[in-house]
Amino acid sequence: MIIGGGPGGNMAATYAARLGADVTLVEKDIVGGAAHLWDCIPSKTMIATGGAKTFTSTMRGMGLHQDSARLDLGALKERVDGIVHRLSSSTVSLLESQRVRIVHGTGRLLGPHEVELTTVAGTEVVPADAILVSTGSRPRIPDWCQPDGDRILTTRDCYPPKTLPEHLVVVGSGVTGVEFVHMFTALGSKVTLIVSRQQVLPTKDPEVAAALEAEFLDRGVTLLKGARANAIERTDEGVVVRCDDGRVVAGTHVVLAIGSVPNSEDLGLDAAGVQVDRGGYITINHHCQSNVPHIYAAGDVSGKLPLSSVASMQGRKVAEHVMGLHTLEHRHLDYDKAASAIFTEPEIAEVGLAEAEAFALGRKIRTTKVPFSFSAKALINNDPRGFVKILSDPATGVVLGGSIVGKNAAELISVIALAVTANLRVGDIVDSLLVHPALSEALADAAE
Ligand SMILES: Cc1cc2nc3c(=O)[nH]c(=O)nc-3n(C[C@H](O)[C@H](O)[C@H](O)COP(=O)(O)OP(=O)(O)OC[C@H]3O[C@@H](n4cnc5c(N)ncnc54)[C@H](O)[C@@H]3O)c2cc1C
Repeated sequence: MIIGGGPGGNMAATYAARLGADVTLVEKDIVGGAAHLWDCIPSKTMIATGGAKTFTSTMRGMGLHQDSARLDLGALKERVDGIVHRLSSSTVSLLESQRVRIVHGTGRLLGPHEVELTTVAGTEVVPADAILVSTGSRPRIPDWCQPDGDRILTTRDCYPPKTLPEHLVVVGSGVTGVEFVHMFTALGSKVTLIVSRQQVLPTKDPEVAAALEAEFLDRGVTLLKGARANAIERTDEGVVVRCDDGRVVAGTHVVLAIGSVPNSEDLGLDAAGVQVDRGGYITINHHCQSNVPHIYAAGDVSGKLPLSSVASMQGRKVAEHVMGLHTLEHRHLDYDKAASAIFTEPEIAEVGLAEAEAFALGRKIRTTKVPFSFSAKALINNDPRGFVKILSDPATGVVLGGSIVGKNAAELISVIALAVTANLRVGDIVDSLLVHPALSEALADAAE
């Protein structure tokens, strides 16, 4: 029995059914989850439109002249909805092809082996040998602010908003915050970013963050550093955001990007004896089991890395464990080896050990870095921004991690991710006969 049909729930359902389990999945919104409806897909679709709009400036450097493109918010909304619908439908088809029973409704635990499903037709109690809770998370709303979906927005109000913000204030400079800065500047908004620390992306490699800040400043983004928003008011013209150090920003709209909270209330976790931590996340072991061994959690509600890819992999591991495959050769999910990307321009992607982490651990590393300005393909693309950095063990040459800033970083990082997962050496990357001219050549150069 699976509660929540996001990437964690879907993957577990498909895989468990393929392995022979009788699976029911209950989803209250759309199959595909928040990942499809609110997060990964709509945000990246909007970013793709922003990228296409600003491509006209790249074109000028390539010998083409065209006036900048005009944004049609109605058509953009249709496009976002169309892609979400299409992806959700293909997920439903895949689940149905594996004979997963999909229930449109709300799931709630009545006890350790019983889930109550509430649908428009009424309620039904389903007995289950194993239960997966994959109910995801939602945007965190602080008590000093009340989003109205009009001027005071959460990320979920932005696909697209009713009008394009003339001046958007973004609160929060983590991954979501910087992606929204990029998205809206590319679409044509003036943006002010409130950065609580002295650097955007405070947990990331400072060199990577600096490259992004430089790009933002180039685009005219105002960075308000060392400030925490603590009040937002609506005015006749828009919004006023007040910060704890006395600074005040007036804008037409504000979007909150200050993290998320787990969807773990009203699930009957108490009735089943499932423990949550102080933040409301279900505590799990390396098999994604809660303290009740046959009740599992995957995805954002498990409080591990809040990434769609991680949720899917957890779902797969849950299916393997439920069906007894963990007794065979089984690789545990290593969260430290998860690749991640930030879909700004330039794109940012990283995997494995970071330089700052290595220094903190006192671990000896070899770092090699190659700028894309040395790459033939980057020059041909008229976009030589960014670099590839690879971290390896100086004694063995084993690749420990890497970061990429630049065009297609999210795609290129897969090579380093594979090397990190499979314990490949830098020499293995150098020895690969790669395509020329291609951005991936910079990976081989950085591995030298
Ligand atoms: C703006 C934004 C952009 C993001 N972009 C990316 C990205 O590019 N790449 C990436 O890897 N990650 C991204 N993420 C993170 C990613 O969206 C999440 O990590 C991922 O969605 C988590 O998947 P999940 O399986 O936990 O379920 P979710 O996708 O959160 O889905 C959970 C589902 O459970 C359902 N549900 C909840 N309670 C019940 C109930 N009681 N009964 C029935 N159904 C229920 C909900 O309706 C929902 O559909 C982004 C996040 C945000 C906020």
